[in-house]
Amino acid sequence: MNFHILTLFPEMVMDGLNTSIIGRAMSKELLNVEAVNIRDFAENKHNRVDDYTYGGGAGMLMQAGPVFGAYRSVVENLKSKPRVIYLSPQGQTFSQSMAEEFAKEEDLIFLCGHYEGIDERVLEEIVTDYVSIGDYVLTGGELPAMVMIDAISRLIPGVLHNDVSTEFESFQDNLLEYPQYTRPEEWHGKKVPEILLSGHHANVEKWRREQSIIRTAQRRPDLLEKVEMSDKEKELAKKYLST
Ligand code: SAM
Repeated sequence: MNFHILTLFPEMVMDGLNTSIIGRAMSKELLNVEAVNIRDFAENKHNRVDDYTYGGGAGMLMQAGPVFGAYRSVVENLKSKPRVIYLSPQGQTFSQSMAEEFAKEEDLIFLCGHYEGIDERVLEEIVTDYVSIGDYVLTGGELPAMVMIDAISRLIPGVLHNDVSTEFESFQDNLLEYPQYTRPEEWHGKKVPEILLSGHHANVEKWRREQSIIRTAQRRPDLLEKVEMSDKEKELAKKYLST
């Protein structure tokens, strides 16, 4: 999988991604991250890539030309046109299911805005997906791009030690993950639930499913509507919804 990030701050994204699990996956060549500096495509001798907005208003806007130049430098080396994600507070909110969908692609281009954003005309020409990481405004698209790349990368086979597709995780089937414990068996007077020490696999699975339902009812009741549950499980959820 190849991630191409069009940005004014290549060192920020490369430093951020080149650590821990994603950094290891990069050195194992399970994935490749390339940051393309939009400033390298400036069309004036001062290397400026932003200008005032037509019609007035505070702040500067990134110009179409340099963004398009950076985009073209990536696509001219690819066999087919990849999806181009513009990180924007105006986009669809990023989710686990979107991460799963993007993980199927061979190449992805992330376009990071800065200042007041980017000239609309180049967005119309190259962007296929507008994605937000939440309803708040950040100074640039670099952190959102890193968030998305992190979530997508961990779905690529071999990036994690275990295969996440076969493991239970939050948002799988719209349920949050159950509580988990590691050694010691007792900490600050709190004991690990007895059932987890029993070695009885079926009972452990039953307990985990119940805990997931309880947790989702307590913390994210909005997700429960989409969960397939038996009548008994629905009763359990109802009990915790009202508390
Ligand atoms: N003027 C723009 C607006 O109101 O929609 C906001 C521009 S923001 C200050 C600068 C850049 O940060 C954007 O072009 C975008 O790339 C990025 N950005 C800010 N908030 C974001 C969010 N919640 N999700 C994704 N990208 C965001």
